[in-house]
Amino acid sequence: MTKTFGEKSLKKTFLGMFALMSATSILCNSCNQKKDKKESEKMIHKNHPVAKAVPKIDETVPPDKRVIYLTFDDGPNHGTENLLKILHKRNVCATAFLVGKHAYGSKKQQQDLQLLRKDKLIELANHSFTHAHNKYTDFYKNPVEVVHDFDTAKDSLKLYDKIARTPGRNIWRLNNITVTDLKSSGDAANSLKKAGYKVIGWDLEWKPTNRMVLKGNHEAMLKKVDSIFFNDLEKTSRHLVFLTHDQYLTDADSINELDLFIEKLQKSNRFVFRKISEYPGINEILN
Ligand SMILES: [Zn+2]
Repeated sequence: MTKTFGEKSLKKTFLGMFALMSATSILCNSCNQKKDKKESEKMIHKNHPVAKAVPKIDETVPPDKRVIYLTFDDGPNHGTENLLKILHKRNVCATAFLVGKHAYGSKKQQQDLQLLRKDKLIELANHSFTHAHNKYTDFYKNPVEVVHDFDTAKDSLKLYDKIARTPGRNIWRLNNITVTDLKSSGDAANSLKKAGYKVIGWDLEWKPTNRMVLKGNHEAMLKKVDSIFFNDLEKTSRHLVFLTHDQYLTDADSINELDLFIEKLQKSNRFVFRKISEYPGINEILN
């Protein structure tokens, strides 16, 4: 198979790749520790994928590869230990967007925070202290309190970076990406950016059922990954931020499905995995 992602006219070939991929072509999954070189400055607008500029060649990503950022929200939580087992089985890196108060929730959560903290495969990032008390509309009405909440999480979790994800909202505030899923959260998002937070949302979420286990199977998620790249729906061309939650990983089926999802991505030999601090442009000083 010599087709590349760039050859999107070869639609059938592209979409059929998972079926044809070789089981022997296992990618080396160690995470690239180098920081990305800056990609070209681009204006990217949600709902206007055609406006996406063709990026400069990203020398850190081979032309036949795409980058996936596995991110897991709301930890430490039920399922955190299972998540770590999967990541180690697959030797793949990920980012944990932590909730400050969860680190004080129970002895187990305190222990899991220590596991996360010392794990080389894991990067820690800020998902607020209170998680908005799960009352999102009220939370985002008060931008000063929102910034304070993230500052509290940063201090209590001893985070060095100011990479943040907003609870309950898919918001992006980087220099070249501004996305607000619900307009009423816009002022709070702008305040976070002003306070130096690089706010990053997601391109694809593996959602739960109402029993809080992973919904659907890994094959469906793999198709969604393909579909996003094929239709240019990722915020930064060739880079996909994937989200799910530790707490959906408490039953054998969900654990198995996430494991298979990662295994198939690896075996396709089409993807590399990185931590969120390597997302293009995330280390730039905000303007
Ligand atoms: Zn959350």
